[in-house]
Amino acid sequence: MKKILLILVVCSLSLNPIFTNEIKATSNGKKICIDPGHQKKWNNGKEPIAPGSKMTKTKVSSGTQGVFTSIPEYVFTLDIGLKLEKELKKRGYNVFLTRSNHDVNLSNIDRAKFCNSVKADLTIRIHADGSTNKKTNGIHILYPEGSYTKAINKQSKEAAIKILEELIKSTGAKKASTDGLSPRSDITGFNWAKYPVVLPELGYMSNVKEDKKLATPAYREKLVLGISNGVDKYFDLNIAANQKYFKANKHLPIYDNRSGELIEVGKVYKGQTYPIISSSNYWYKVKFANYNGYIRKSNTRLVTNHNLRNLNVKLKPSSNKFVTIKGTAVKDNSSGKLVSFVTLQKGIEYPIIKEYSKWYQIEILGRIGYVAKLDTQKLSGGK
Ligand SMILES: [Zn+2]
Repeated sequence: MKKILLILVVCSLSLNPIFTNEIKATSNGKKICIDPGHQKKWNNGKEPIAPGSKMTKTKVSSGTQGVFTSIPEYVFTLDIGLKLEKELKKRGYNVFLTRSNHDVNLSNIDRAKFCNSVKADLTIRIHADGSTNKKTNGIHILYPEGSYTKAINKQSKEAAIKILEELIKSTGAKKASTDGLSPRSDITGFNWAKYPVVLPELGYMSNVKEDKKLATPAYREKLVLGISNGVDKYFDLNIAANQKYFKANKHLPIYDNRSGELIEVGKVYKGQTYPIISSSNYWYKVKFANYNGYIRKSNTRLVTNHNLRNLNVKLKPSSNKFVTIKGTAVKDNSSGKLVSFVTLQKGIEYPIIKEYSKWYQIEILGRIGYVAKLDTQKLSGGK
């Protein structure tokens, strides 16, 4: 028994090299606040819908209930909240929950203030919907609009769009409320928020079919993955908007991480600038072949200005590929002379955009480059 255990431990160690963990565990330093909607006992007291507002709303409403399963909304939202916490932690997020049991008394202001207090980069308020029309089904996401939330409207909407997109992809549900996006200026939990916030209504518990679906662990898993993928996308987007490029202070390896191990596939050049897809604590993700490459952030610096004339905006690779038969430089031809800006290792398969008599045109790290045919062997189309 002990022996078997030992073998298992050794195997799993070699399958999970330390670098993989480094990439995953440090995937970001972003803080997510999860607010599982409602609670066991509703609170009928009133509170202002926004700071300084004379309009009031119920502190916490009872929520809806499964028309077939009788599952209360607050039970569903907490289960999703806890599953989401687990998934986001796995992805390197720092996660906070407004509640982790049912027996609480937290008004919508309390919930917003809690997420403000942890300075959450994004707050996700988990809910399910109910309608008097039993046919209504699908997912929609509420996000703040209006003057109380001016500072967070834009970011919140971006997050809503990304999360909706990924939720629809992972669940196959339809978009409710026409396009699935529901801007609101009357939600207490939004108007008191200081940081971006979204409220996914994950389905209609008043629809028998959807109620049954929402009750299954398999569908809940899809919901959690959809939200998590959307969150990832949202932060990638922000990084792309603010910190688009890095400059290498020396030649640095580019790694392929698809196997779970870091395999060097090439190098970037000292003094050259490259677009970033996204960034984590220690790594940049960059475009490479038809997968992604990773470059350590050390010995680089972020730059906002660049003079790159070979950024790829519209060219798409064909199904043709070459494989390098030796280490070879990729050249930038945009200045009138050929300047090397990436080296490809030997044995790298790479998609070709266009073939010239002596050169292959490719996209690498978001830039257009040229590789000498002499250093490569062509692979037949589609392979
Ligand atoms: Zn609700």
